[in-house]
Amino acid sequence: MARVYNFSAGPSCLPEEVLQECAAEMMDYNGTGQSVMEMSHRSKAYEPIIQDAEAMVRKLMNVPENYKVLFVQGGGSTQFAMVAQNLGIRNKKAAYIETGVWAKKAAAEAKHLGVAVDVIASSKDKNYSYIPKVEKVEGDYDYVYICFNNTIMGTHYEYIPETGSIPLVADLSSCILSEEIDVSKFGLIFAGAQKNLAPAGVTLVIVREDLIPEPEACLPGTPTMSMYKTHADNDSMYNTPPCYTIYVLGKVLHWIEKKGGAAGIHRLNVEKAKYLYDFLDSSDFYHATTEVGSRSLMNVPFLTKYSDHDGSEAALAKEKEINDKFVKAAAAAGLVNLKGHRLVGGMRASIYNAMTLDGVKALVAFMKKFAEEN
Ligand SMILES: *Cc1c(COP(=O)(O)O)cnc(C)c1O
Repeated sequence: MARVYNFSAGPSCLPEEVLQECAAEMMDYNGTGQSVMEMSHRSKAYEPIIQDAEAMVRKLMNVPENYKVLFVQGGGSTQFAMVAQNLGIRNKKAAYIETGVWAKKAAAEAKHLGVAVDVIASSKDKNYSYIPKVEKVEGDYDYVYICFNNTIMGTHYEYIPETGSIPLVADLSSCILSEEIDVSKFGLIFAGAQKNLAPAGVTLVIVREDLIPEPEACLPGTPTMSMYKTHADNDSMYNTPPCYTIYVLGKVLHWIEKKGGAAGIHRLNVEKAKYLYDFLDSSDFYHATTEVGSRSLMNVPFLTKYSDHDGSEAALAKEKEINDKFVKAAAAAGLVNLKGHRLVGGMRASIYNAMTLDGVKALVAFMKKFAEEN
């Protein structure tokens, strides 16, 4: 079976070179006679794998010395709680910028844990199709929270809010290592790996050391596994880490390095995204749902002209029919997982690091043909 172009929002496509390397090493990793899946995480063969993965994160993201790089489990969603439990501890008050589902879920989790949440800006007024401009944040907040790339809405910050001495926390799940980023501007960054770095199972956390509290300083009831200190003090080996996922992550990081690191991969991502947005902006059949100046390079939701309607039942049915037809015909042409999220409708193409320019060109060629026929 031929491989398809996979536009899934997550888990998502991985570089073919990486998959081939994994396949080649499946039965016998490095002369051990075992797969990495079968190895003790405390073995001589495994230790260099996790150490190399951390070293590569530090190298590619230029992580300053005074930051810890942690590999934890529980996905991005567990970080919504851990951020509050570990950072929302002084004034038990935090500022959130509301840019869609993931930012809202993070704020709800903080509230649930007893942290007072101030929503200091929101783009709810236009269905989260843009990133609000927040020049400067002041106040007695324990942290300021942003979702840097909004996977569902297709928006991305083109600036970093100035928060002075208040730590800035950012969810980079869907844009990690898609661009260069100045880690020193953030107190904490986290990213579930399954969008841009690896299969599901590991979450990367990069946290400034002075923000890691002692166990007794965390919010009451914080489990040991939810304390950053537990993972920081044990080199992410307090318990069994997701060994195989970290192994693949390391390979993906070496692949990114070969593409020219964060800067190199960013140039490729700009080229791919521009190709798609330019087509959307010039089309009278399709349009992007996001505002210029807030557009994600990774997630591109788009609608057809059948989505601009009066809300009548007939028009809604026609819109649904066209969307379904698009997704089905695209899949038959080897372009899969293009169904839009129900909150935006239409279609969504996720074009993460591992999606090739050829894949984007194939998508645009299909879209042109579909527009002519419909
Ligand atoms: C997917 C996603 C999450 C949730 O990640 P899980 O690992 O499924 O918990 C959180 N934030 C963003 C921006 C995401 O794209």
